[in-house]
Amino acid sequence: MRTKTRIAALIAASALALAGCSSNDEKSDSGEGDGGANGDGITIGVKFDQPGLGLKDGSEFKGFDIDVAKYLAKELGYEEDQITFVESVSAQRENMLENGQADLIVATYSITDERKERVSFAGPYFVAGQGLLVAEGEADISGPDSLDGKTLCSVSGSTPAQRIKDEHSEGVQLQEAQGYSECVELLSSGAVDAVTTDDIILAGFAAQDKYAGKLKLVGKPFSEELYGVGVAKGSDMCEQVNEALTKMIDDGTWEKAVKDNLGDAYTPNPDTNPPAPGGNCG
Ligand code: GLU
Repeated sequence: MRTKTRIAALIAASALALAGCSSNDEKSDSGEGDGGANGDGITIGVKFDQPGLGLKDGSEFKGFDIDVAKYLAKELGYEEDQITFVESVSAQRENMLENGQADLIVATYSITDERKERVSFAGPYFVAGQGLLVAEGEADISGPDSLDGKTLCSVSGSTPAQRIKDEHSEGVQLQEAQGYSECVELLSSGAVDAVTTDDIILAGFAAQDKYAGKLKLVGKPFSEELYGVGVAKGSDMCEQVNEALTKMIDDGTWEKAVKDNLGDAYTPNPDTNPPAPGGNCG
């Protein structure tokens, strides 16, 4: 009798576990993962609105960061259908890693000392620089020092927004959005004068058909943004991710992913790319 009850309980438990798995799979493109760390899969935070980098297109995910994420998942022992992509907007990335809502974040995520107090980073795997995107006909704005009296859009919780506040805020009005697609829409409708973030992100937008001939990048990059893969602070996955990033660079997949996703739209700075991953796990 006792054994039978125990077997029944075991069957019920495994049915529950199976149900848990399948609901996790179904969520794979819904944007609501539940932290793959405790399940059979891996949950990766990415951007959903950045063409060329992290873009949700129907049920598909595309971009350089998506290719990096897929490569890492494979190296960590996951099949592609075990990946749950969740949206990680700039301001939520540290929170998501701290709360276990994502196992990895691959989302144009700059390694900074401030962020390293809360999370660890594998990488860097890419080096970009802050830039400015303006309307094709804009004649006044040529760099961060010619923004006086202008309205500028950037994203809350991002390093470019912070840099404008810290170093260029006099005379410029900063409007903060949740994501860069919102900023670029505001720019193309004339509601703001410029958008600032990493040059690679701006180039990805400028290359979209709908903005052809309407937007341009101006000036030289005015920061170094070292992209890292965010993991929970002290996670032992960090060094494994560094190894996988190094392998991706060495076997040519990194270069192919840059070309496939950004093509003629953007050429990485050859002095800083590809970087050597490592040194940010602590
Ligand atoms: N790389 C910068 C950052 O991590 C800007 C891009 C972004 O907001 O994702 O804040």
